[in-house]
Amino acid sequence: MGLTARILIAMLAGIVVGVLFNFLNSSQLLGSGITGVINSYLTGGLFDVIGRIFIASLKLMVVPLVLVSLVCGACALSEGHRMGPLAGKTLLLYMLTTAVAITLALCMALIVQPGVGVDVAPPGGAFQPKESPPLSDVLVNIFPTNPVAAMAQGNMLQIIVFALLMGYAISRCGEPGQRVASFFNDLNEVILRMVGVLMVFAPYGVFALLAKTFAELGVEFIWELGKYFLVVLITLLLHAFGVYSLLLKCLSGLNPVQLFKKMRPAQVFAFSTASSAATIPVTLSTVEKRLGVDNKVAAFTVPLGATINMDGTAIMQGVATAFMAQMYGIEIGLAGYLTVILTATLASIGTAGVPGVGLVMLAMVLQQVGLPLEGIALVMGVDRLLDMVRTAVNITGDAVVSVIVAKSEGALSVETFNNRNYDSVAN
Ligand code: ASP
Repeated sequence: MGLTARILIAMLAGIVVGVLFNFLNSSQLLGSGITGVINSYLTGGLFDVIGRIFIASLKLMVVPLVLVSLVCGACALSEGHRMGPLAGKTLLLYMLTTAVAITLALCMALIVQPGVGVDVAPPGGAFQPKESPPLSDVLVNIFPTNPVAAMAQGNMLQIIVFALLMGYAISRCGEPGQRVASFFNDLNEVILRMVGVLMVFAPYGVFALLAKTFAELGVEFIWELGKYFLVVLITLLLHAFGVYSLLLKCLSGLNPVQLFKKMRPAQVFAFSTASSAATIPVTLSTVEKRLGVDNKVAAFTVPLGATINMDGTAIMQGVATAFMAQMYGIEIGLAGYLTVILTATLASIGTAGVPGVGLVMLAMVLQQVGLPLEGIALVMGVDRLLDMVRTAVNITGDAVVSVIVAKSEGALSVETFNNRNYDSVAN
């Protein structure tokens, strides 16, 4: 059985086991003794350990992979003088897709009105948002003072800046540059192989993470906030299957079904880890090896996208803002909604792709339009599941933009994109 099939089966099995444990826990059918044993030895014990090792093994590859492949990519790009156009197109598309996502979310929320008539007291303890840094700091922080510290902290934007500079310098350095470039190219192959080796264990990790998450998921809020939950979910699906398909078809003439089929394993990783950043190794190898995007494009677009392009997160913010305005009966008007679009699009640039960060960004958006932050504590109850789905949407957006940009730059192997090899993740 191919790795993709094993990963998909692991996902389903994890969800089924998790939901079952959750049911046993809440119904007390087996008595507290047995459920206690299940909770402490399986969900809180074995599954927790395997899940954490799995995430660690993904994160382990992020910094070396991004650094090395982006140095190679930047070197090739600056040889062909394509760095500027590539960066321009990528940033434009990332902003555009995010703005479309949040507009779609606001429209859906204004039509369905999920917040009207909702009268649920937020669960104890109001949400305490982290202080968000001013925009000037966000800009200055993109430039590293110490590349080693940037790598140690996994600061993606700083690593990107350093790698771009290094790649550019290598391409301008003549013979020594060529020697360094060939070393980096070889190292890139080795690191991608390491990702491939770790992928073999992925089904176990996916199973453990999902079983644990679903076993601990508080489902009771889903009923109370059913409308909010459904509007976010449906908008996420609409954006992923509708907007992305349209963009891909119109801007590059490629078949979206092919992209969705090949992205499936990467989406499962994003879904189970709820972190675009941790999924970078899988997204990158999927985009390069299965979708046929040349390394010089993917090495730039994928890590950048994982950091600044969060369409799924923007959708949650759009629906949540409208939901809260409706719930509290506060009219924020057209100007307010335009502010939401602008703030959410900009907010996604300054925040990293890690679990739950969307809620911090939501606090920023709510503050901008003067809505009370207490509502966040309420939507938090159903956020974990939505976080998983929107992370899968986030990385799909990165892949779609990567393919479109690569096609326009003549850096896409259409043959690889169209072939029917859906089996391997990393080779
Ligand atoms: N978990 C999301 C991601 O990593 C961010 C968020 O929406 O919280 O892309």
